[in-house]
Amino acid sequence: PLILAIESSCDDTSAAVMANGEILSNVVATQQVHEQYGGVVPELASRAHQQHLIPVVQEALRRAKVAKTDLDAVAFTQGPGLLGSLLVGSMFAKTFALALDKPLLAVNHMRAHILAHFIRDPKPAFPFLCLTVSGGHTQLVVVRSPMEMEIIGQTIDDAAGEAFDKTAKLLGLPYPGGPHLDKLARQGNPTRFAFPVGAMPGYDFSFSGLKTSVLYFLRQQTQQNENFVQENLADLCASIQHTIIQTLLRQLRRAAHDQQLRQVALAGGVAANSGLRTALQELAVAEGWEVFIPDFEFCTDNAAMVAMTGHFQYQAGQFSNQLISPDPRLKL
Ligand code: ATP
Ligand code: FE
Repeated sequence: PLILAIESSCDDTSAAVMANGEILSNVVATQQVHEQYGGVVPELASRAHQQHLIPVVQEALRRAKVAKTDLDAVAFTQGPGLLGSLLVGSMFAKTFALALDKPLLAVNHMRAHILAHFIRDPKPAFPFLCLTVSGGHTQLVVVRSPMEMEIIGQTIDDAAGEAFDKTAKLLGLPYPGGPHLDKLARQGNPTRFAFPVGAMPGYDFSFSGLKTSVLYFLRQQTQQNENFVQENLADLCASIQHTIIQTLLRQLRRAAHDQQLRQVALAGGVAANSGLRTALQELAVAEGWEVFIPDFEFCTDNAAMVAMTGHFQYQAGQFSNQLISPDPRLKL
């Protein structure tokens, strides 16, 4: 099938075209307005989606050399995400589908982050274990098929991406802090400062303790030396990153062991973290795992992963109708 996909769950407006599982185009407009506020402002995100959506869809169709009348279905992100952002994408998809008389495919955004692994080779074989680490989620998922997924562990408070961004903010780094912290950490000593590892009973994660611990530690140190952060920035970044990676990999390792899964996949924007990638590759050698990490373009929010999920749903005959509405808290 020829599918047009729309992604608008947070602050990226994206459209993609996929033909029989092959990606033909993937256009992403990232919103810059949020930088000055140090976080995503929902109302501004919705308005930016309204401005970007039509040009982004037109560009995706143009690059794919596809006429809208040739499409077989329209896929869109139903949730989870920001309600206002989801509304813009879903209203567009529904209107488009109605006007052209095409079926609708309502896609779960977290499922799409996982199925991003099927856009390009090498692709994992089922069943596999996926660690999804994004700005809003941290999930350990047993993936049995494109349609059968089970969350066996997740964060009980902040997401891994949030942990990066919030601690980076405490260090005075620009938003989003994750990539900045990653870069600075490369020059630092990861064992210089010790912070609490948030591995919970079972396979759950907790990152709010790390944030609080960094906050109090910095407060205490800057009382003695007001330049403490500047003088120790690389070591602070490396130590915080090390703690987050330790937390993630400890649970991943136990889960893979207990579930007897040797194919391990990473999904979501935090998969871009160089320390996490290296540590995971090292662990994979020790554990005899085969590791899968999608290209960065398909790790952060993008419509190609929505198209891929829509493709699987099309094959399974899972269509929606005009009564569908966005669900900000949609479960996997
Ligand atoms: P969700 O899918 O849960 O709604 P999201 O899609 O908005 O969240 P992503 O776009 O997948 O989140 O990822 C964004 C997060 O990834 C941000 O928190 C960002 O700081 C983090 N991130 C991106 N690159 C890096 C990096 N190199 N190191 C650490 N974190 C990073
Ligand atoms: Fe996302």
